[in-house]
Amino acid sequence: MKIQTFTGGVFGENGYLAICEDSNVCVAVDPGACAADMAGEIQTTGLELQAVLLTHAHLDHIEGVSDIRAISPDVPIWLHPEDLGLYHDVAQHAAMFGLQVLSQPEPTNELEPGERYDFGACSFDIRFAPGHAPGHVMFVSVKDGLALVGDVVFQGSIGRTDLPGGDLRTLMKSIREEVLTLPDEIVLYTGHGPHTTVGHERVGNPFLVPHFGGNLA
Ligand SMILES: [Zn+2]
Ligand SMILES: [Zn+2]
Repeated sequence: MKIQTFTGGVFGENGYLAICEDSNVCVAVDPGACAADMAGEIQTTGLELQAVLLTHAHLDHIEGVSDIRAISPDVPIWLHPEDLGLYHDVAQHAAMFGLQVLSQPEPTNELEPGERYDFGACSFDIRFAPGHAPGHVMFVSVKDGLALVGDVVFQGSIGRTDLPGGDLRTLMKSIREEVLTLPDEIVLYTGHGPHTTVGHERVGNPFLVPHFGGNLA
């Protein structure tokens, strides 16, 4: 599996193309402000787009869904049902930030935690990791040594929990049970900022390390 990163917008959101190199089948994960570039990449390289997968429905992670649909009008859009409310309210949330984001095409499929999502010869395990958003999921491939974790954890930080549906205790539980249970060498592709590894965050993330007052003893 190859991961290509597309970063942009006022929030510096990372959208990702996850590509099965054996089959040229790909999925678009969290198409945000740079989704038009993502769509251009799909078209110029002749990749076969199988789906849009969303870690959660905050505006910066979904504002480019329509750009992906523009090149692939029937491509399925996968979201955990607990985040449908956020998805539908995107225009109001954008207004809170003084931004304008149009309503996006309706999600077509429900992500089921514990299930596997296959594309080409690749697959993701769907892990439920609420706290930053009520229906937040992560896409994990231990075989490929990587996870797309959205806004659960970042290099040296964790997702904010002050937005509607956020909860700090729930987020810390998600990190403890769904991130820190992964092998140290797993690369974490995050929703904002550079990628990192489980091992790096386990020992160095001030929100997670007891020495710095983090609550994951
Ligand atoms: Zn978010
Ligand atoms: Zn975000």
